[in-house]
Amino acid sequence: MATTADTALSFTRMPHPAPVPDARRIEALANPGFGTLFSDHMVSIDWDDGRGWHDATVGPRGPLTLDPATAVLHYAQEIFEGLKAYRLADGAMALFRPEANAARFNASAARLAMPALPEETFVEACRQLVLTDREWFPSVEGGSLYLRPFMFATEAFLGVRPAKSYKFMVIASPAGNYFKSGAPAVSIWLAEDYTRAAPGGTGAAKCGGNYAASLVPQAEAIAKGHDQVVFLDAAERKWIEELGGMNLFFVFDDGSMVTPPLGGTILPGITRDSLIRLAREEGLTVREERYAFEDWKADAQSGRLVETFACGTAAVVTAVGRVAGHFGEFTIGSGGPGQLTQKMRNRLVAIQRGEAADPDGWVKRLG
Ligand SMILES: *Cc1c(COP(=O)(O)O)cnc(C)c1O
Repeated sequence: MATTADTALSFTRMPHPAPVPDARRIEALANPGFGTLFSDHMVSIDWDDGRGWHDATVGPRGPLTLDPATAVLHYAQEIFEGLKAYRLADGAMALFRPEANAARFNASAARLAMPALPEETFVEACRQLVLTDREWFPSVEGGSLYLRPFMFATEAFLGVRPAKSYKFMVIASPAGNYFKSGAPAVSIWLAEDYTRAAPGGTGAAKCGGNYAASLVPQAEAIAKGHDQVVFLDAAERKWIEELGGMNLFFVFDDGSMVTPPLGGTILPGITRDSLIRLAREEGLTVREERYAFEDWKADAQSGRLVETFACGTAAVVTAVGRVAGHFGEFTIGSGGPGQLTQKMRNRLVAIQRGEAADPDGWVKRLG
């Protein structure tokens, strides 16, 4: 479906009649946590096969009323995105590479047989919500306003086919700094009984169903005392793919890096792409190639592998210190965050915060 239509879609603004009182909001923003606190407003845009995208609104955040036969509740036709709005050093608000999220959203939509949303509408929806809820930026150092755009099938119909109506929404959740100073290293559990994505499946789409399927192995990781689960490829159970919601990089003793290649079973992370570009601009070698779990273990033990880090919008860059599974366990480097991990993290965060030059125009200021 065309992404060029509807460029003139304009948003109806309906201010919340009873927003959260200042004192309560300010108190909540001092300790926002992640994903439990929400701003006053939300964006909603509807689509049906007769009218295309219509009824764009920025209105009071509140519950939805759905028919029990609503398609998404049965066949999981749902996709989402995650991006952060930041306050720059000079106080302006900004988004980081929102066009990349918009493009990925449409790639996910195509895989889930959903209509494309014009990229400028996606970005404008995010901008409208941030400007409307500008009072909801956390006051804590390193805080951000996490945006969750999503789309789901709204048609009430139990037949198995793509729905004929959809709703696109954006909600905002103030988020604290994941790691205030010196990010700790996380401990990873290897999923040996489960895979995340098979060739030809939905691994490259950001859809809720992938997450539903990862909850059992993720819960197993937590139950075993680890933070995250790592998945291997579904065909050979040999190659490292990614964590449940973050991409991986491996750093070797010659200063080069490897990250698993995209190819349908890995989510094309925007943080991953940004780090590859930054590293290459600095003259570092980054190979997008397959890396076997057995090599990871052997290289960590021999010292050839010196660091491993995970990356994604929420936590940016996180060191992996320990890997465990039914096979036993191994430690990476000293078990704490390595030098290159910290350098890459600082480099990216500085650009995101407007503290470093932004040669690629990644930071989109919101007027
Ligand atoms: C969203 C996501 C990532 C990270 O993508 P970013 O664009 O960097 O936030 C990685 N893996 C999965 C499975 C994801 O859903």
